[in-house]
Amino acid sequence: MDKGLLVVISGPSGAGKGTIYRNVIERAGMQRSVSVTTRAPRPGEVDGVDYFFKTEEQYQQMIAAGEFLETAAVYNNFYGTPKAPVFENIDNGRDVLFEVDVHGARSIKRKYPDAVAVFVMTPDFEVLEKRLRGRGTETEKSIRTRLGSAKNELSKYDLFDYIVFNDDIDEATESVLEIINAERCRVKNNIGTIKNLLK
Ligand code: ADP
Ligand code: 5GP
Repeated sequence: MDKGLLVVISGPSGAGKGTIYRNVIERAGMQRSVSVTTRAPRPGEVDGVDYFFKTEEQYQQMIAAGEFLETAAVYNNFYGTPKAPVFENIDNGRDVLFEVDVHGARSIKRKYPDAVAVFVMTPDFEVLEKRLRGRGTETEKSIRTRLGSAKNELSKYDLFDYIVFNDDIDEATESVLEIINAERCRVKNNIGTIKNLLK
């Protein structure tokens, strides 16, 4: 491919983005985009691996220094995508995978219209609530906030190129891998290689 792909996974909290993201990174040989956040680490989360955990003051300094490709306030915390590693990767032909909220997906698509945006959703909202509760990471208040946003997030469907319904996790992962493979094969993503062959 001429350049790396930028693939964005988004959708409501509890839809399975994180699970799919981890599966796809492993199987598709993609670069992770590690986000910066002001939220507290969950048990087991590692700084620099799951997120870069920052104070609000440090976060504001990063905004002022223009270090973000996009930044959004999500469920009462800040989340942002550091810019430099993304362009370093795609310019060197490496595909980058993002997991961001719907606002983040919109910002990335605006700045980089060739980004491939995939919306992940459960088969219905009842399953979404069950999975979010089952994960056991959120307070009741946080669960309410996240479920309260879910319909609004789905209503932004036209920002996205694909939707994957995460019923069975293996099938959902497979669908995202197929999307990535198809995008890698698009003629418009291989013009440089084709022209080289035609020389
Ligand atoms: P998100 O990152 O979108 O908030 P997660 O990946 O954390 O969602 O998934 C929410 C919960 O649902 C997790 O406990 C995860 O293990 C579980 N889960 C994800 N996909 C499925 C699935 N297809 N079937 C059953 N449980 C799932
Ligand atoms: P969590 O707190 O569950 O890890 O993430 C909460 C939400 O923030 C999820 O919807 C996740 O996709 C989103 N998120 C994570 N990183 C980023 C980011 O860099 N930018 C944006 N806009 N959203 C993010």
